[in-house]
Amino acid sequence: MSELSISNLQVSVKLPDGELKPILAGVDLTVRAGETHAIMGPNGSGKSTLAYSIAGHPRYEVTGGTVTLDGQDVLAMTVDERARAGLFLAMQYPVEVPGVSVANFLRTAKTAIDGQAPKLRTWATELRGAMEKLQMDPAFAQRNVNEGFSGGEKKRHEIMQLELLKPKIAVLDETDSGLDIDALRIVSEGVNRVRSSGDTGLLLITHYTRILRYIKPDFVHVFAGGRIVEEGGPELAERLEDEGYQRYLTDAEPAS
Ligand code: ADP
Ligand code: MG
Ligand code: MG
Repeated sequence: MSELSISNLQVSVKLPDGELKPILAGVDLTVRAGETHAIMGPNGSGKSTLAYSIAGHPRYEVTGGTVTLDGQDVLAMTVDERARAGLFLAMQYPVEVPGVSVANFLRTAKTAIDGQAPKLRTWATELRGAMEKLQMDPAFAQRNVNEGFSGGEKKRHEIMQLELLKPKIAVLDETDSGLDIDALRIVSEGVNRVRSSGDTGLLLITHYTRILRYIKPDFVHVFAGGRIVEEGGPELAERLEDEGYQRYLTDAEPAS
């Protein structure tokens, strides 16, 4: 059973002038395959910094603590190695990959993760199936990754990757942002399909509670000021929906 274990993680962002600005102030979190965790919190609380740090983004410098996947040191891995180890990170602002089609990108990623290329015929069937479930036009597979994608297309593409790559642990940052209600439902159904396989641990990062009406987390962690300030079950998300984040905000962190 896979386990992502984050212990006392401290991270600073590198500013353009080279200075380090501390953001994460000691985060402890364990996500196991089959579990769904939600990280919720006000804007600027460090949620994306956590996601980028797990992903290995060069702008974020780990100054303390550990991240392991099944005992392996994630922080010592390159971005590629993290993906091959079974980590999937869907970023709030995904990058464009000019000249690489969705179909080729997915097949290359699948090959890298599995260590061998998928059989052409089964792969084509899987790809088509994943797109149908997400109600995507088959022509989408021939477009360049993230080039001119609408917000909804980016999110569907993320979920398509999730379904096809079958990661051990997936981190989804603001997967609900910019989705209309139909797209939110389709994307949530995709996440729930992955969840019901029981093979993937999910970490959903969100500012809003609305996606949590469709995906019921097993655990909710409230983030404020770069650390987890409260933890609970799905009832905590409901309370946040009613009360907002006001009670967690300090003077240094005004509501936004
Ligand atoms: P959230 O995702 O919860 O909105 P972020 O992790 O994006 O929070 O940001 C946390 C804090 O770190 C904010 O104060 C933000 O301004 C700062 N920060 C994050 N990334 C950068 C960056 N690249 N340059 C400067 N400040 C940053
Ligand atoms: Mg933000
Ligand atoms: Mg964010």
